[in-house]
Amino acid sequence: MKALVLKENCEIEVAGKKRQIEDLPLKTEPLELVELPIPKPGPKDILIRVSACGVCRTELDQIEGRISPPKLPVIPGHQPVGTVAEVGTKATRFKPGDRVGGTWLYSSCGQCRFCRNSEENLCEEFQGTGCHADGGYAEYMVLNENYAQKLPENLRDPVKVAPLMCAGVVGYRSLKLTGMADGKTLGLYGFGSANHLVIQMANFLYPNSENFVVSRNPAERELARQLGADWAGDISDRTPKKLDCAIDTTPAWKPVLFALENLQKGGRLVINLIRKEPADKDLLFGLDYPEHLWWEKEIKSVANVTRQDGQEFLGLAAKMRLEPEVQEYGLAEANKALVELKSGQIRGSKVLRIGT
Ligand SMILES: [Zn+2]
Ligand SMILES: [Zn+2]
Repeated sequence: MKALVLKENCEIEVAGKKRQIEDLPLKTEPLELVELPIPKPGPKDILIRVSACGVCRTELDQIEGRISPPKLPVIPGHQPVGTVAEVGTKATRFKPGDRVGGTWLYSSCGQCRFCRNSEENLCEEFQGTGCHADGGYAEYMVLNENYAQKLPENLRDPVKVAPLMCAGVVGYRSLKLTGMADGKTLGLYGFGSANHLVIQMANFLYPNSENFVVSRNPAERELARQLGADWAGDISDRTPKKLDCAIDTTPAWKPVLFALENLQKGGRLVINLIRKEPADKDLLFGLDYPEHLWWEKEIKSVANVTRQDGQEFLGLAAKMRLEPEVQEYGLAEANKALVELKSGQIRGSKVLRIGT
């Protein structure tokens, strides 16, 4: 099978951008297209023929070594969608031909206090798809049947479903964690793959709410208006109303302070990001208690997802026929997609179309 493999950490070369990681090689093609044997499913596994796989910002972090996979080489990709090609000898949940998807949650231990408390996203032994084990940038991959998600009947196009598997599910979890309810105001900082899905969910779930999008990118603000934002402004703008709930998806720190300033009393900001750029000390010391935190304002991060999140979200996506804006690439164009993602050429979600 054809697969894209990360063999060594490197800095992804982007035209016009200064070097940032001096000790790593500079590459425009960080992943290598190779021919590998089709993996064999273990007893409780399913073999998936991958139709499409979403491209996530986390892949940039994996390649550039900020969240390096524990061992290399590895096949990245944690938003795979495809059909079951073969089932393991003890696997009973699926049959060949079933349509399935995988999320970032590759496995959890099932025994730690978090797993026992329905918080497998916080598991002590959490393993990520395409990080601790091979992912979906390949024609085939293997998943334990209990961690594969059954896909709703009416979500047919794999390219439109793939971005739902991380951007959608984690976006859904972030929205839940904000405590959002109908009538409350919502602020979205950054408008990439996740938040462009979150706004559609919010419009569907909370029809009497207003949502405000904040992005420094004019194209993202334009897309936000098209997808029903009540207002879209630049990163330091005051939102037209105070925010009860906010989600930050930007890699920088400044938007956190701007979002906290805009929060209503008792409001909550959720940071949906696996990694923030190293904090500038001046910026952190700019945290002003009366301005940013007094009046019971809260700040919280979102880490990973649970299988329950996946099921709830896919049910919602099917009900509202949620569709991402997609930029499509072939498997061999993955490096191009990653370079464009790093350089900010983004409209919605990037997806690799791999098989049928
Ligand atoms: Zn992701
Ligand atoms: Zn656990």
